[in-house]
Amino acid sequence: RPRVLSGIQPTADSFHLGNYLGALRQWVRLQDTHDTFYMVVDLHAITVEQDPKVLRERTRRSAAQLLALGVDPARSALFVQSQVPEHAQLSWVLECQTGFGEASRMTQFKDKAAKQGTDRASVGLFTYPVLQAADILLYQANEVPVGEDQRQHLELTRNLAQRFNNRYGKTFTVPEPHIVKDTAKIYDLQDPTAKMSKSSSTGNGLIELLEDPKKSAKKVRSAVTDTGREIVFDAENKPGVSNLLTILSALTDQPVAELQNAYEGKGYGDLKKGVGEAFVEWVTPVQERVRSYLDDVAELDKALALGAERAREVASVTLRNVYENIGFLPPA
Ligand code: ATP
Ligand code: MG
Repeated sequence: RPRVLSGIQPTADSFHLGNYLGALRQWVRLQDTHDTFYMVVDLHAITVEQDPKVLRERTRRSAAQLLALGVDPARSALFVQSQVPEHAQLSWVLECQTGFGEASRMTQFKDKAAKQGTDRASVGLFTYPVLQAADILLYQANEVPVGEDQRQHLELTRNLAQRFNNRYGKTFTVPEPHIVKDTAKIYDLQDPTAKMSKSSSTGNGLIELLEDPKKSAKKVRSAVTDTGREIVFDAENKPGVSNLLTILSALTDQPVAELQNAYEGKGYGDLKKGVGEAFVEWVTPVQERVRSYLDDVAELDKALALGAERAREVASVTLRNVYENIGFLPPA
C-alpha cells in the first residue's frame, strides 16, 4: 500500500465544514487504500503566538474530532507532532539544505508576513515549509494530499528530498501529490465567492462542527443566495445556490444532478431547509462521539501516545539514516 501523510493545525476550537469536506473526509477514505499517518501539527501552530492552555485544549479537541469523524487508530497512526521529536530534529538538518532565497520565495510566508508585518513574523513562520518537508520525508510518504495552497510547499519538499539524496546517498522517498477527485471546495455562506475559512469568514459564514447544530441550521437558512429562483448548479452566476448544492451533495452522497431534479419547482427556502437538516443529521452523532472522547482525556492521551509510538517506529529509522549519511557519530 502506498503511504500517505497529512496534518492539521490545532488552531481553532472546532474544525469547520470546509475542513471536513475539503480534507478530513478524504483522510477517512484513504484508510481503505493507503497506509495512513495523520497528525495534529502543534509545532506548526506555534509559528504564531498561542496561549498555552488554549493550545493544549485545542490539540485534544482536534484529535477527538479526527477520531469522531472516522480516523481509526487501528488502521492509521494518529499522533501529535510534538510527541515525535524527530520532526524538529529532521527539520534542522533540512533547514541547512534550504537556500535562503529559496525559502524567501514561498508565497504563503510572503502573504502571512505581509499581514503580520515582517518584524512581528517569526523565523518559525519563515521555516514552516521546511518543517512540513520534514513531516513528510520522515515517513517516506509516497503521496501527500494537497490543495492548491500547498502545491509550492510540496514542490520544496520534493526538491529537498532529491537534493539530499544526490548529496548524501538515497535517504528519502520523493513524494507525489495525491490529487483527490471528489474533494469539495466550500464557500462562505455570507460571501459565496470566498472560501469558508476560520481566519477570514465571519461567524455567520462559517459552519463549525462543534457549534450548536441549531445555530448551524440557522446560518444555512440565512445564507446568501442569488437572483432568480431556479435551483441549478452554476458556480459563476449562482455561487450561493451552487455552494449549497455542493454541501448537500457531499453530505448525502447524492450527485448534484439528482438533487437538481429533486428540487425542481421548489424554492431556495426548501433547499436551505434540506441542507440544514442534512447537516444536523450528520453532525449530531459526530458531536456525541467528540464529547465522549473528551470526557476521558486520560484515555485520549493514551491513544495519542500509542499513535506517537507507531509514528516513531518509522520516523526514528529515517532520522538515524539521515544522521549517519550526513556524517554524525553513531547514537551515544
Ligand atoms: P486559515 O484561514 O487559517 O488558512 P482554514 O480555514 O483555511 O484556515 P486550514 O487549517 O488552512 O483551514 O486548512 C485545513 C485543511 O482544510 C486544508 O487541507 C485545507 O485545504 C482544507 N480547507 C480549508 N478550508 C476549506 C474550504 N473552504 N473548502 C475546502 N477545503 C478547505
Ligand atoms: Mg487555509
